[in-house]
Amino acid sequence: MKRYDVIVIGGGPAGSFISKLLAGEGFSVLLVEKKRYPGENIHCAEGLSSASIEGILRIKDRWVSVELKGAEINSPSKGFTVLYPGVGWILDRRIFDRDLFLGAVQSGAECLTGVAANSIEEYSDGERVVRTTAGSFRSPLVVGADGVPGFVGRETGLLKPFTLKEFHQTYQCLAYTGIDDQIAHFYVGRSIAPGGYAWVFPKGDGFSNVGIGIDRSLTRRSAKVYFEQFVKNYINSFRPISCSGSAVPTTVNRRLVGEGVALVGDGGRLTDPFSGGGIAHALISSYMLYTKIKEHGICNRALKAYEKEWNRTYGRNNNWGWRAKMVLRELDDNTIERIVEFGIKNYHRKVIDEIKVYDIIKSLIREYPDLMKPGLRLLRGRYDL
Ligand SMILES: Cc1cc2nc3c(=O)[nH]c(=O)nc-3n(C[C@H](O)[C@H](O)[C@H](O)COP(=O)(O)OP(=O)(O)OC[C@H]3O[C@@H](n4cnc5c(N)ncnc54)[C@H](O)[C@@H]3O)c2cc1C
Repeated sequence: MKRYDVIVIGGGPAGSFISKLLAGEGFSVLLVEKKRYPGENIHCAEGLSSASIEGILRIKDRWVSVELKGAEINSPSKGFTVLYPGVGWILDRRIFDRDLFLGAVQSGAECLTGVAANSIEEYSDGERVVRTTAGSFRSPLVVGADGVPGFVGRETGLLKPFTLKEFHQTYQCLAYTGIDDQIAHFYVGRSIAPGGYAWVFPKGDGFSNVGIGIDRSLTRRSAKVYFEQFVKNYINSFRPISCSGSAVPTTVNRRLVGEGVALVGDGGRLTDPFSGGGIAHALISSYMLYTKIKEHGICNRALKAYEKEWNRTYGRNNNWGWRAKMVLRELDDNTIERIVEFGIKNYHRKVIDEIKVYDIIKSLIREYPDLMKPGLRLLRGRYDL
């Protein structure tokens, strides 16, 4: 049976990135991806903020559909726009994911496409055996970079099944909308998307990613039903091209490692629980695991150091994101309308170069003292990265 220093399951951004980094350090890496063509059939709105990946990855022009210049925040009846040049991008993930995968191959990782991992044996004699549809392989470290299904995490006992509050059900279409700007449009409100939000992200030439994420513990209706209602009420011209339903983790997971196993990206449920954004978290968790392996080698100490650092930094921010999500899901439409009125008054068409969450919450409480209780819940415990 062939042996590798590391076996990575999943060739999305997390798996490709860690494979590239570790192979570049001279480790023998096997990257197993069940899709035949990396980059195909991706469920994502493709938004990425520039600040989130600074120092981790330089974004190439060909990965970008649209460079963003700001965001528009809407309640059910009104909205405001904040201008923030250089805030980030709407990516073309077909190209982004494929290039990251090819980068792993270039760095020396052995890759299998169209191959699924279907069982992982208990850790024994310092190794695990991974069985795939193309045979069995052994390694002292299996990295679970396998996205929302979390096969590696579930198989090794690190992940439990999701509860309803721990994910957003999503529905998204790539569509022609005629909207041709450089603004990420968000729509918030219980009547629009209970516990979540809807988005219209520009893809260029009048095309957009139009989608919605909802908390199914708050409603019996599906994301698709809310999506159809959203499109009817808020999008003038809508010609869908391809649509899909999916899920995004909106939870906090602190158990990222076990004997001979580590979880990264969505495979470890490391997305921001508030926004559901996870591209940066996928890249950063992979980078963090790589730096620990580079420092300590492939050993328990490296894995523990990775888990500890994640929980101390991004994990702590995700605790805050979870709290923010729990606050948002309790706000009624009337309160959302008032928050957006506050935004119109203070931020509409203003140019900013940083989002100061604490300052915004503090002035919001000053304006609306009745929001003191949820506001104070948000002021606690955010780790500034
Ligand atoms: C509708 C929607 C909109 C989103 N919008 C945004 C956004 O705008 N910005 C943002 O930052 N994030 C967004 N996200 C989240 C983002 O898509 C993910 O966080 C990101 O893709 C995580 O990357 P990953 O590499 O961890 O996992 P994935 O990209 O899911 O990659 C996992 C890979 O593992 C493979 N795999 C799974 N099981 C196996 C197996 N058993 N054997 C072999 N291979 C396997 C899969 O085929 C897949 O290629 C969105 C998610 C959804 C659903």
